[in-house]
Amino acid sequence: GAMLRHLARKLRASGPVTVAEYMREALTNPGQGYYTRRGGLGESGDFITSPEISQVFGELIGIWYISEWMAMGKPNSFQLVELGPGRGTLTDDILRVFKQLASVLSKCDVSVHLVEVSPKLSEIQAEMLTGGKVQPNPKDKAAYMEGVSKTGIPIFWYRDIQDVPPGYSFYLAHEFFDALPIHKFQRTEKGWREVLVDIDPEVPDQLRFVLSPSRTPATQNFIQPEETREHVEVCPEAGVIVQRLASRIEQDGGAALVADYGHDGTKTDTFRGFRNHKLHDVLSAPGTADLTADVDFSFLRKMAQGRTATLGPIKQREFLKNMGIDLRLQVLLQNSGDAATREQLLHSYDMLMNPEKMGDCFNFFALLPHHRLAHPDKKDKPESKPPLPPVAGFNELLLK
Ligand code: SAH
Repeated sequence: GAMLRHLARKLRASGPVTVAEYMREALTNPGQGYYTRRGGLGESGDFITSPEISQVFGELIGIWYISEWMAMGKPNSFQLVELGPGRGTLTDDILRVFKQLASVLSKCDVSVHLVEVSPKLSEIQAEMLTGGKVQPNPKDKAAYMEGVSKTGIPIFWYRDIQDVPPGYSFYLAHEFFDALPIHKFQRTEKGWREVLVDIDPEVPDQLRFVLSPSRTPATQNFIQPEETREHVEVCPEAGVIVQRLASRIEQDGGAALVADYGHDGTKTDTFRGFRNHKLHDVLSAPGTADLTADVDFSFLRKMAQGRTATLGPIKQREFLKNMGIDLRLQVLLQNSGDAATREQLLHSYDMLMNPEKMGDCFNFFALLPHHRLAHPDKKDKPESKPPLPPVAGFNELLLK
């Protein structure tokens, strides 16, 4: 393909590149990148995500935001900021919940801000959320596109989170961090070496992994001295974005909900590709397959740098159970007349919740202002307000 020829030319001219550089090219190269051109999500695509499996997933996340908004004293406006919205399904389901609970949100000014690099996917999102009625490059705005949702809420699109205006915000990143470029490192007898991508001299236009002959700037910067693993993956871009989220929440208030497959600083080699819902060799036909790596939640926690509190990671099946998925399923089953719909509801519940499917490997993680979790000391201030409700999902949902 064109992407392989482009990479081969580059590798022959200037030598091997880091896995991060390879991943960035393969996924988001403006001309040939996987997300830029194909988008790949959905049943007919290369991979399927929870919001595409069941509307219940997005509805429960919508309820999470409302419950946090209430716990934080119902501020009179908030921005819902989604990173990497895919086909826009998750935001669509969340906005439907906001509409159903309009009486609760009635005096609150809500806007939606989508951070998306793929022109192809932003088009699909615009169609899903606004019916395609969007305006490109609005004046006096950092957004590259704007529109109004089917439920009447203004929506803006940006390429970078830094372009999203400051303000009280609820952030959402579902299967976003796993798509960001990682560096890979291997422990050797001579110390840490970075894994690089090179052209195989024996086979024309075939890529292979090699180890850097000496240390690289990345080995210096990203390996912790106390590291015990033999092989480590680090996603610096995820670190930068979490730092931004944490300082924005510290400054303007709000919360971030991150959901992804991942681990807590224990896994080693998780870099993989997906094409047509099957595992795909990460080095073959770049630009035609989704490339991904598990999210290291221990790294995200570290990168919040104490600016916010963090919760999780907690397994998806526990989070959804706490959010009341069982009750929601019962209601939907009762309301659906035909057997096929009921079958579909049970099947999608099993996909989301079964520990062998998505229930265990997907995790939820949150950034929250410190004061949201602080427990007032009753002895010192007997007149202080009642304690804040526990954070839903990480504890049982208590909506009043
Ligand atoms: N959240 C969606 C889609 C996940 S796929 C879902 O769960 O269904 C990853 C998404 O992140 C895609 O929309 C992709 O285009 C976007 N993306 C990838 N890298 C990005 C980057 N650097 N900045 C912004 N968006 C990015």
